[in-house]
Amino acid sequence: APPGSSEAVRQVKLDKECELRVEVGPNFPLRLRLLTGTAEIFGTEIPQEIRLTFPPGHKFAVFTWYGATIEIDGTTETDYTADETPMISYINVHAVLEARRNRAKASPCDSDDSQGPRVIVVGPTDSGKSTLSRMLLSWAAKQGWKPTFVDLDIGQGSITIPGCIAATPIELPIDPVEGIPLDMPLVYFHGHVTPSANVELYKVLVKELAQVLERQFTGNIESRAAGMVINTMGWIEGVGYELLLHAIDTFNATVVLVLGQEKLWSMLRDVLKSKANVDVVKLQKSGGVVSRNAKVRQKARGSRIREYFYGPANDLSPHSNTANFSDLLIYRIGGGPQAPRSALPVGAEPISDRLRVAPVSVNQDLHHLVLAVSFAKEPDEIMSSNVAGFIWVTDINFESKKITYLAPSAGSLPGKYLIVGNLTWCE
Ligand code: ADP
Repeated sequence: APPGSSEAVRQVKLDKECELRVEVGPNFPLRLRLLTGTAEIFGTEIPQEIRLTFPPGHKFAVFTWYGATIEIDGTTETDYTADETPMISYINVHAVLEARRNRAKASPCDSDDSQGPRVIVVGPTDSGKSTLSRMLLSWAAKQGWKPTFVDLDIGQGSITIPGCIAATPIELPIDPVEGIPLDMPLVYFHGHVTPSANVELYKVLVKELAQVLERQFTGNIESRAAGMVINTMGWIEGVGYELLLHAIDTFNATVVLVLGQEKLWSMLRDVLKSKANVDVVKLQKSGGVVSRNAKVRQKARGSRIREYFYGPANDLSPHSNTANFSDLLIYRIGGGPQAPRSALPVGAEPISDRLRVAPVSVNQDLHHLVLAVSFAKEPDEIMSSNVAGFIWVTDINFESKKITYLAPSAGSLPGKYLIVGNLTWCE
């Protein structure tokens, strides 16, 4: 066994305000239960005496406010106890948000004050953004609120598959093993795992999502008061930074939580100084956050797609369907790369075709691509429509002009139009 790792059944005693940081070994799941005291995993309390089973490779921490004894059973890559965590500062943020939600709830429902906090979590990759978002949502849900979770991270989002931005109400503390239930998320498909492939489209989708949520909030005092938690991507330089500002602005964020980077915090504080109702707060990154390299990220993306079709515990059975080429109406948003400014006559503005929606005929390149099923009724609605789900192209037969794809279920697709980007998956 590697150093720092251990196996077999053992008990770990945690003192107050300490956490057990675990990385499950690569081959077998790990079982865990709470024997005494109280403890939580990323904001969700662990039930007494019930065994939780974590899949291989899972990284998490069990934190206790007052002390606990944990039993773990299985092989870990690493597990150690830490007594220095930023949890007190995180729970203090929660307390401030809680007060603002209560104030919003007590305000007349047609006044601006009835809007609860709109929190946006920003920071470099692997600073613990998703984890902090999750804690804030779970703590709020435990208190009976139904905050809206918005995930703008199209590389490693936690609501749906990669290549998308999405939002969903969080009604219960998030399950430490299964994550966020995929009930009724509002999903927009970008089709790439980084916005740089089409920045204009990313902005349009962020705006669409924000507008839909704004409308939903108008009719729902409860979710309005609960507010939202917005997770962002780790791209914080150059265009990435501009996209952060765009998101802060588009969602009318009122609290900006900056994790683990002094420079980003000071830049945001300066640009947002003129906005009296925006607080820019610097928070420490947890020492427990595990860095993931490009390969690990790519693998994680693949398993998210697998999970969409097969379920988190292999508990779903997707269906292989066959259709005629002519039955599938496939569209792509944005053409090739934009002409460089230098190629244009002096003074001319480049005409962007990044937002052009164009039909795609079935071709070999679609093999192994993941396509989104749009809710659009007409092609010109494709860009502004959210998507119902995804299919995965497994075979293209040019002789019989038939395409075979995997879908979550048998039968006709929930929409007529399909959107293609460059999101691929290999089983
Ligand atoms: P980001 O969203 O900034 O990229 P994440 O919140 O996804 O970062 O964290 C990266 C990884 O570190 C995740 O696998 C997460 O489960 C793990 N992690 C975060 N905090 C802790 C902690 N305190 N102990 C152990 N693992 C952690």
